[in-house]
Formats: sequence, structure tokens, C-alpha cells
Amino acid sequence: MIGLMQQQQLTTGALIDHAARNHGRTEIVSRRADGALERSDWGTVSRRARQVAAMLAALGAQPGDRVATLAWNRLPHLELYYGVTAAGMVLHTVNPRLFAEQIRYIVDHGGARILCVDPDLLPIVEPAVTDLAGIEQIIVLCAGDEMPESALPGLLAYHDLVAATAPIAAWPALDENTASSLCYTSGTTGNPKGVLYSHRSTVLHAFAACAADSMALSARDTVLLAPPLFHVNAWGLPFTSAMCGAKLVMPGSALDGASIYQLLRDEGVTFSLGVPTLWFIVLDYIQRQVSEADRAALKLNRVFMGGAATPRALIELFRDLLGVTANQAWGMTETSPVSTVCQPLAHQAGLTGDALTDILACQGRAVFGIELRVENEDGNALPHDGAGSGLLKVRGPWVLNAYFGSEPGSAVDADGWLDTGDVARIDADGFLHLTDRAKDVIKSGGEWISSIDLENAATAHPAVAEAAVIGVPHPRWQERPLLLLRLHPGERIEKPAMLDHLTRHVARWWLPDDVLVVDDLPHTATGKLLKTELRARYREHLGG
Ligand code: ADP
Repeated sequence: MIGLMQQQQLTTGALIDHAARNHGRTEIVSRRADGALERSDWGTVSRRARQVAAMLAALGAQPGDRVATLAWNRLPHLELYYGVTAAGMVLHTVNPRLFAEQIRYIVDHGGARILCVDPDLLPIVEPAVTDLAGIEQIIVLCAGDEMPESALPGLLAYHDLVAATAPIAAWPALDENTASSLCYTSGTTGNPKGVLYSHRSTVLHAFAACAADSMALSARDTVLLAPPLFHVNAWGLPFTSAMCGAKLVMPGSALDGASIYQLLRDEGVTFSLGVPTLWFIVLDYIQRQVSEADRAALKLNRVFMGGAATPRALIELFRDLLGVTANQAWGMTETSPVSTVCQPLAHQAGLTGDALTDILACQGRAVFGIELRVENEDGNALPHDGAGSGLLKVRGPWVLNAYFGSEPGSAVDADGWLDTGDVARIDADGFLHLTDRAKDVIKSGGEWISSIDLENAATAHPAVAEAAVIGVPHPRWQERPLLLLRLHPGERIEKPAMLDHLTRHVARWWLPDDVLVVDDLPHTATGKLLKTELRARYREHLGG
């Protein structure tokens, strides 16, 4: 028997219509290329998104066409998020921090004919886009009189086009399984691969991310949109914020400590999220430049971190400096991304200090919709007892089943499980503890050493700003850990002192064979440690 309820489709058009109807005057603040702030609201974004849809149709865009963007977190990009997807086209967000070669590969592979570029990114992306055969029109996200000099012919000015176009009256009716956006993995492990989200996966993911034991977003929140809109749809925030009617603050390209602090203070930000590297920079600024009274005046009450393991030191810094709870979430481009979120359970509610940090330092529990499985090398599921670690697999309605351009179902096993490439264990309370990426695991004499645990222990030392642990070939043990450290300005630490510090946190046989202090550590375009490069650089370091 079929249920007798209505069959409205779950679409991004429904999200922006809801935001316009119920939160139309809730502000959206955005930092322009010149540093000035501009203000809009959900009602205006909704109307302009319908103008964008009409404008793209007038340029010849058809349903299903990809529209690519190379843009920061600014208003026009948000308008495109809805104007493209709700009209039935596919928003293909491309990371401008990648090398020209990678940008070319990703734009080509996505197959867009229209490319939208921020004006200040034009000089950077020119070498990448000049020989993109598939691109027929380039729209620069500025007004005609702000158009930068460029060797590229026929550039169109976004604001002029939008202003000259009447909005479509309503979004077209779409099947909720229609593709909505396309995002490529950052390629830390091979060629970038496209993840094609649907309207349904996007809306279900937004419900999950808003939930109380997830990010608990609400109309009372002011959200700082720190993760880039070109990385996993900024963790879905443009959609979750519309669903709950939160105020959005978009930092543009300015992600330095001073600019972020100014937004936290002046806009009354209550919630943010991002990769740990970003928050180390922001907290370092606040620690050095902001008085205790000004820190106390901030309204920030929670920050979610993900994309890489959150060092305990960062959780403690948030607590001690700002009285803010730093929760951790785990996910990947392939999982939209939110999959697990770390929130204490009822029996842990009264915990404080180290006991609470122990919990917050793990990757958390599955949100409804997501199933987790940890397998041993024979493919058997390991019990959730916190003891054995193995390959982490995942499935759920916002998890991919095939990469863009490949056969449906080709990325998952016969039971629908996606191999995440991460190594983890799950404890009896269902908390996920990520120990490594399969490729980063250090195998010493047949035993696994967790680079994440070692990095965590190293960053607990006050002199250490950032730590990377890699496995280096070793003549006797196949591989041994090498610890690379970036120190806070003016700090020094010798190898014996660091090893002495580490012995208090990890087993003796885990101790790195060498400790090197370096000026800088390489990062990917999304702010993660680039361990492939470190492994290549230090391959011979231990004579293996
Ligand atoms: P890429 O795989 O190209 O780096 P993603 O952004 O999709 O791009 O990265 C997903 C990966 O990031 C996960 O598979 C995991 O290794 C890592 N990751 C994400 N969140 C966490 C977390 N909270 N703790 C540890 N690692 C994480």
C-alpha cells in the first residue's frame, strides 16, 4: 500500500523559495574584492537567482548544462549556487588555488560551456582558461565599469547582464534526482574525480547538517562561511543556512586572522567551521592582538572542524581563549561531506577538561542516513569495540555511487559500500576514531603507527605550530616515522626534548626516528598537509 502524502520534490529551488518566504530580510554580508562589505538578504538573493537563471537561458544554457565557477565566497557566487541549480543546470565549482594544468583538466572534464570568474582571479586563471576549447562564454563577476584588463576576448560583465534581465517567475519543476552540482576531489591521491550531487542528496544532507546533534543550525545563528564555496559546496552551508534562515557572512578571499576576527566581531558571528589550519591562524591572531575584554565580547559559541584531524591543542585553545566548543566532523567530497559529527552523549554530558577533550578529539558519530563499516584485510566487518582498526566504508543517500563520467554503481561494492581510503576504529558508543588515510599509514615491522596520533601529540607541545608525520623507507623496519615541525615564531626545540615530550603520549616504538624543524610545510589547495610531496622529499632520509 502506498502512503497518501504529497510528493513535493526536494530541490534547491524549494530551499531558496523557503528562505525568501520565511527569512527574506535576514542579512547576507559579503566582502568584495576591494575589501568593502556589501549587504543583501535571502529575499534579494532569491530574486537575483531567478534573474541569473533567465540570464543564463538567454545565453543559450540548457537544463543539464554545466556552468563552471572560479570564484571566492562572495554574493555573486551564492546567487549562482541557486540561479544555476534551481533552474536545472549543474553548478561546477572549480578550485582556483589549483595549478593551471589541474584547473584545465577539471573544467574540461566537467564539460561546461559557460565559465564565471571573479575579477581578481582573472589574471591567475587566464593561463588555464585561454586554451579551454569547450568554454564559449566567460562571465566576470563584476560590473562592466569594474572589468579588469585581460587578454581574454568577449568577457561579459555579470552585474550588467543580471540588471538587464527580468527574473523567471518560478523555478521549473524538477525531479529531485536531477543533478545539481559538480565538485572535484582535490586530488591528494591521484587525478581529481568529479562528484555529481543531486537535488535530493543536497536537501537531505542539509536536513542532516542542521539537526541538533549535528551542527544545530538555526535562524538565531550568524554563520561565517569560511570553507570555500569551491570545496564540497562549502560543506553544504549555502543550503543549510537557507533551510534554517541563518544570517550568512562571506569573507571573500580574505582569510587572514585580522579580517576573520573583524567579521566575527562586527557581524556577531555565532557559528563557523573550516579546516584546522585556518583556525590556527585566526586563534594565533586573536591570542596576540585581541584584548581579553574584546575576546569576551565575541558571540562565537561553536566551531566545527573537519577536512583533517583536529589536534587536541586546537580544541584546548578554543576552550581556553574564547570559551568556544570545537566540535569535529568527518566527511569527504564523496559524502557531501557531513557524515559523522562529534557531540557528547547523555552519559558524557557532565564531562569537562581532558575527559571532554578526549571525546571532542575524535571524529564523532554517524548522523542519521549514514552507515559506517570498518573492515579488516579479509573484508570482514570489525566489531564496534574500539579495539581493531581497519578500512572505513560508508553508505547513505548523500554518498556517491559513481564518479562523474563513469558507470552508475562503479565506485561502490556489491552491497553499496564506498571505500573511503581512511583507516579507523569505532568504539562501543559508536564514535569514529580516524587513525590515518590508508596511503599515509606507517607500517613499521608489520605494525601500524598512526600519523594522526603522533601529530596530535607533537602539536600538544607549546613551541609547535604544525606537525606532519610521514612514513619513510627504513632498511630494517620497512618504514619508520619522520616528524617534521613548523614552530611558532621565536621558538626552538631539539630532537631529544621533542622525543621526551612524545614519550608521555605514545608508545616507545612509535617514537619518530628523526625530528626535523622546517620553515614551512606544503599544503594542498584546500589547506591539508601534502604528504605525497613530503614523502618524495624525504624518501632517502633514513637510508631505506
Ligand atoms: P581529498 O580527498 O582530495 O583531500 P576531501 O576534502 O574529500 O578531499 O577529503 C576527505 C578526506 O579528508 C577524508 O577521507 C579524510 O582522510 C580527511 N578528513 C576529513 N575530515 C576529517 C577529520 N575530522 N579527521 C581526520 N581526517 C579527516
